[in-house]
Amino acid sequence: MYTLDTHSAQDTQAVAQRLAARVWPGTVITLNGDLGAGKTTFTQGFARGLGVTRNVNSPTFTIMKQYSGRLPLYHMDVYRLEDTGDDIGLEEYILGNGVAIVEWSDLIESSLPTERLALTIERIGDESRRITFAPVGDAYVQLVKEVLA
Ligand code: ADP
Ligand code: MG
Repeated sequence: MYTLDTHSAQDTQAVAQRLAARVWPGTVITLNGDLGAGKTTFTQGFARGLGVTRNVNSPTFTIMKQYSGRLPLYHMDVYRLEDTGDDIGLEEYILGNGVAIVEWSDLIESSLPTERLALTIERIGDESRRITFAPVGDAYVQLVKEVLA
């Protein structure tokens, strides 16, 4: 487990952007943390790092939005899902050749692969956030080490 404190939204986006430069087809990143913690803000930086030019906003009312970049980006916010995602086909995206970034992933735990990068964002001040990186699997451990080096 690794942690990093950021002190502005731009800081958070910069870290996300560095991360995005190193991901591969099939990468799964989960984002948990309270409303307003910065999950979508993080995703905006991440998208930029993947070369997405469209504006990324919260997909809360659509569950999933797809963007094209160096790799396809699937941005999911499953806050409004009442049950697991199995029956609405999210797995096809999660297990596909793009990059899945999932806000509130606890709600679809059973649809997620074991190996992934779990991120938690906590508000520690008005403009400060603590990002906890919990990688599962060698590739994700290596990824986090490189990004935080
Ligand atoms: P979530 O998706 O977790 O509900 P959002 O990303 O939509 O949260 O909102 C986070 C808000 O907090 C944004 O208005 C963002 O500008 C602000 N913010 C302030 N400081 C930070 C920081 N260090 N990292 C991320 N967001 C921050
Ligand atoms: Mg959000």
